Amino acid sequence: MSFTVAIVGRPNVGKSTLFNRLLEQRKAIVDDISGVTRDRQYGVTDWNGKTFNVIDTGGFVPDTEDIFETEIRKQVRIAIDEADALIFMTDAAIGITELDESMVTLLRRSDKPVYLAVNKVDNNQRLFDASEFYSMGFEHIYFISSMTGSGTGEILDAITSLI
Ligand code: GDP
Ligand code: MG
Repeated sequence: MSFTVAIVGRPNVGKSTLFNRLLEQRKAIVDDISGVTRDRQYGVTDWNGKTFNVIDTGGFVPDTEDIFETEIRKQVRIAIDEADALIFMTDAAIGITELDESMVTLLRRSDKPVYLAVNKVDNNQRLFDASEFYSMGFEHIYFISSMTGSGTGEILDAITSLI
């Protein structure tokens, strides 16, 4: 049985940084599975001896405002379909945005487990600021830094416990 984790979130929150970090150990990026991979990157990695697929979404985002929302909705929908668990990433340096909120609405409609990863928590001040993300009401919330790797082990422990 193969298990798939998709990373979703608005542009620039750090999804690809986390994806690259996860794939560092195994370096297995699987190109062009579907021919539409300019939107998504697929990889295979492992943690605690458990192997799983990772999808990085949002590779291609048009800049027109309307298309932008539509495109992001589409990508979240596909990620929900393809994944067994989702990492919903937000940005502690920016705080909660409208786009974050609208993604929460989409994610709530899915019955897949969602792990909120509040990223860019690089220091204690950021950790303090990031507490506003508790208001999103997710059961699983992790404060991480994709850049330094801080907190990424905890979220992976939680997700791989599902496998
Ligand atoms: P994506 O659009 O969600 O895939 O975001 P990227 O992974 O491309 O990252 C967007 C920007 O955020 C880049 O400049 C990254 O270096 C930066 N970034 C990613 N993770 C972190 C982090 O944990 N801390 C900080 N300070 N910056 C980060
Ligand atoms: Mg990216």
